[in-house]
Amino acid sequence: MLDFNSIEQLDKVATPFWYYDMDLFRRTVDHVAELSAEHGIKVHYAVKANVEKRLLEYISGKGFGADCVSGNEVLHAHSCGFPADKIVYAGVGKSDKEIYQALQLGIEAFNCESLQEIYVINEMARVCGLKANVSVRINPDIDAHTHKYVTTGLYENKFGISRHEFDKLIGLVQKSENINFIGLHFHIGSQITRVEEVYALECRRVNEIVAYFERNGLEVKNINLGGGLGVDYDDPDENPIADFGKWFGTISSNIALHEGQTVHVEPGRSLVAQCAALISRVLFVKSGETKNFLIMDAGMNDLIRPALYGAYHKIENLSAAMRPFFPTHQAYDIVGPVCESSDVWGAGRLLPLSVRGDLMAIRSAGAYGQVMSSRYNMKDMAPAVFSDAMDEAPSRTDYFAV
Ligand SMILES: *Cc1c(COP(=O)(O)O)cnc(C)c1O
Repeated sequence: MLDFNSIEQLDKVATPFWYYDMDLFRRTVDHVAELSAEHGIKVHYAVKANVEKRLLEYISGKGFGADCVSGNEVLHAHSCGFPADKIVYAGVGKSDKEIYQALQLGIEAFNCESLQEIYVINEMARVCGLKANVSVRINPDIDAHTHKYVTTGLYENKFGISRHEFDKLIGLVQKSENINFIGLHFHIGSQITRVEEVYALECRRVNEIVAYFERNGLEVKNINLGGGLGVDYDDPDENPIADFGKWFGTISSNIALHEGQTVHVEPGRSLVAQCAALISRVLFVKSGETKNFLIMDAGMNDLIRPALYGAYHKIENLSAAMRPFFPTHQAYDIVGPVCESSDVWGAGRLLPLSVRGDLMAIRSAGAYGQVMSSRYNMKDMAPAVFSDAMDEAPSRTDYFAV
């Protein structure tokens, strides 16, 4: 992915850091903006995937909305240029303070996940003398065929309202005078790779549910299908941009719409995952009893996905790429510095012979990376470095030239 010059530039920066390829990022967002216009499908970016201000400002500038899952995300999205009437707010557990702030801001919709939440929002809106736009998140009981921690649309999951409460829900919405019902919301999981199968099934289930609500007296104007489009973690260079064409196409040909209805989607991961790499350096090479370890300066405190979900990230030795006549490859267990045995980047990874000081790229790290980082072990937070602002990057200091 990176040419000789870029690697040389990166090598001058203090590690670890998040490297954002702004060109790829903009191409991805522009591509989605075009498809959105072509298919008439509205896009809300799922802010939780990555909250970097520069990314959000670009996305809001393209006219996308924002999908938030906390009060602070709502406020942050608003401060990054998303107008209040393009911000939707989902989440099973909204606090009173969060609801109050979003009400005052006048957001596009609360995506409500329980009957009690609808009741509380109606009461709070009444006290404030306001009317709240409400969309209801439905649990459609669909298997997204993805990792169990990122499946959200099965009855066993905590998200959304299930069929047995539909009639009670319709009654509640009809008698709640301070809410304005605008539609239904679905989001069945993340990193979905069986795109045609899963989204066609979701659309068919959604068609039935929408029809049920309309037959029973609620007009469903917005049909929000959530996010979930998967990206290629195995080969980010082969597929730097997820197959949005297939996603939008599958939705367009399977969703039943009548006059006055619009479809919304909420991509998070697929908009930002491939545009960033976590750049780290080899601190030590150690030969264990049976294997060789590469010990890196980035750990699970920076990017928790491998430790949390056993997620795979491609790892490249950038310095070795600059030593063209270095033919030997070797299997390494690549690990972080954190005092946890799950702090492993990859086991048995075949890499060119690697040495102390080598610069490594942990690829496809733009989504659910920086946002989930912590200061566990009191590590510093790795900064963001943007490809078009390399002069702002913190420079490397050599304490000892060993
Ligand atoms: C997380 C989330 C998304 C985004 O999911 P991705 O898999 O990152 O596209 C969309 N909608 C809701 C409600 C979410 O919670």
